[in-house]
Amino acid sequence: MSIFRPMILGNLKRGLLGLGIRKLPLIGGHKLLYTCNLRCEMCPFWRRKDEKLLSLEEEILMLKSLERAGVLFMGFEGGEPLLRKDLEQILEESYIRFHTSLVTNGWLLKERVRSLSEYLDHLFVSIDGIGEVHDKMRGIPGSFERAVEGIREAKRYLPVSISFTITKKNIDQVRDVVELSRKLGVGISVQVEYDYSTAEKLSPDKSQLYDALKMLIELKRRGYPIVESLDYFEAILNSWYNRIPWKCKPWLTVNVDPQGRIVQPCYVLNEYSGKYKVWEIDIVKLWNTYPWSEYENCNKCALACYLEPSLFSWSNREMVKEKIVNNMVSYVRDLIHI
Ligand code: SF4
Ligand code: SF4
Repeated sequence: MSIFRPMILGNLKRGLLGLGIRKLPLIGGHKLLYTCNLRCEMCPFWRRKDEKLLSLEEEILMLKSLERAGVLFMGFEGGEPLLRKDLEQILEESYIRFHTSLVTNGWLLKERVRSLSEYLDHLFVSIDGIGEVHDKMRGIPGSFERAVEGIREAKRYLPVSISFTITKKNIDQVRDVVELSRKLGVGISVQVEYDYSTAEKLSPDKSQLYDALKMLIELKRRGYPIVESLDYFEAILNSWYNRIPWKCKPWLTVNVDPQGRIVQPCYVLNEYSGKYKVWEIDIVKLWNTYPWSEYENCNKCALACYLEPSLFSWSNREMVKEKIVNNMVSYVRDLIHI
């Protein structure tokens, strides 16, 4: 299914809801839990203890609140989301409201993907290098093979992309992982590591990163299945190397922690610590009283869930074609089963 399904009604609703109001969240992100079955060096989340998780009823309350606030896209992550036994039920509630995606480390994917795929528009599987490089970063031997097996099975049922984060330990494998995505017949989303205070600091060397970003632009131009736009990579180069900042709009994304609390201004600056329960607060009011302008020139991270929507513009023809028109075409194809 393409992204167009929930956008038809959702865009209309956002248009009406947004009349006279300046800011509404467009993308929702939710960590279902912090617990994980892997031990990635660069990850602060598996090191946290989960308090009591949200019940299914509370997850639904959260989704309804986000829907009322105008969210159109919902992405679930963790920890490892597949550790939740009620994941299918949660996704089902999301799928009827939003374009729904999930990111997993793939360890438990092969056996479960068929039932999950009924309620997902897109699946992301984390791969951080080839073979041992991935296994070392993920902290568990065999995790590369399990993730690849999971991807092979998953692509039988739904659109899949590798989720790849560039760190100092895998920067020499960027090309290999992009080639792997092509070989597997899936997309690849590429992000740059951000150093969290409670995890190992693995941000890549700046000059190596420059070369990797240039290579990614070249590969994208040559038709490799890289999810992020050319503008995304160019914005990072401009900001981090040429001092031309991009304007961050963290209000386009609302992140919710495993206890249902809203993370503001973004999940990088406060390291995913939430304050208000989603369903106990008027999100639209909160969104339009928060001092977002303080963060416009931050440019600290390059997280696609913040950077890509911040860059989107209806006057950028290439971006409209890639993000909207191509998805409309795939939606129509789905309908007539081409
Ligand atoms: S698989 Fe994801 S959540 Fe688990 S430890 Fe690694 S990065 Fe963290
Ligand atoms: S650029 Fe700054 S404000 Fe924007 S998402 Fe990244 S860390 Fe947050």
